[in-house]
Amino acid sequence: MSDVTFEPALYYEVTARDNNPDCRNFEQVFDVAEFYSNDGVHCYVTCGICRQRMEILTAILLDPQPEVS
Ligand SMILES: [Zn+2]
Repeated sequence: MSDVTFEPALYYEVTARDNNPDCRNFEQVFDVAEFYSNDGVHCYVTCGICRQRMEILTAILLDPQPEVS
């Protein structure tokens, strides 16, 4: 479980760690420069290798928010 919380419909810079010991990304931390929070609850970073959800370690609200065109 993660104790990071999100406000809905905003962009964050997020770091997330793969906690799947069977994955070659295990214990690697990934940086997501523009992570959209959707409804603020269903905020997941999925590993591209094992397809499991990573643990979100940090989330920094982008200020200013990126332009959405
Ligand atoms: Zn993985």
